[in-house]
Amino acid sequence: MSSDDELRAVAMEVRACKACKLHASRKNAVPGEGPAASELMFIGEGPGFHENEQGRPFVGAAGKFLEELLAGIGLRREQVFIGNVVKCRPPGNRDPLPEEIQACSAFLERQIQALQPKVIVTLGRFSMARFFPSARISDIHGQARMLNGRMVVAMYHPAAALHQPSLRREIEADFANLPALIQRAAPAAPAESETAKPPEQLSLF
Ligand code: URA
Ligand code: SF4
Repeated sequence: MSSDDELRAVAMEVRACKACKLHASRKNAVPGEGPAASELMFIGEGPGFHENEQGRPFVGAAGKFLEELLAGIGLRREQVFIGNVVKCRPPGNRDPLPEEIQACSAFLERQIQALQPKVIVTLGRFSMARFFPSARISDIHGQARMLNGRMVVAMYHPAAALHQPSLRREIEADFANLPALIQRAAPAAPAESETAKPPEQLSLF
């Protein structure tokens, strides 16, 4: 299956998914979007109010800020893949629960495998924790880390940075440095799991 087909298949499955209780309160699932050939993948936390209304990621205030940050490095949102750790909105924008993140993780893994991005940028703690479970975002934000042959850069969540001047300066500086990191990133490695999954699970995909 082509990466394009696989991304479409994931999106269809997400829209029909009932694997965690977030399905019950969603209006629209938000699979994520962007070109299959994208070298850059952004991973946020989960849909908020506007995302749940529209079925698209980062379309509220945080999304507007993300678009500004992208514009600052000469990119439009259509040029990158934008997804989330959980694909359905946690009610009232509460934090996603560990079991919800777990239930949704295979979708994100398949998106990563389909895209094979050069660089993954995690936005916020929950997304960072998928790759660096014991890291603190204040320690590692903006730093290029290699994980299974791929560069992963943790950044603050735009929604948090938007209203907090100190974090806003940090995320702006981290974004400004991103082109240099992308330049430095090795070509995406061939299919290899991002997380320490047993091989028998991998073979399903
Ligand atoms: N915040 C997120 O983490 N994801 C979205 O899609 C929107 C806001
Ligand atoms: Fe399925 Fe993920 Fe939505 Fe839960 S959040 S219902 S696992 S798509």
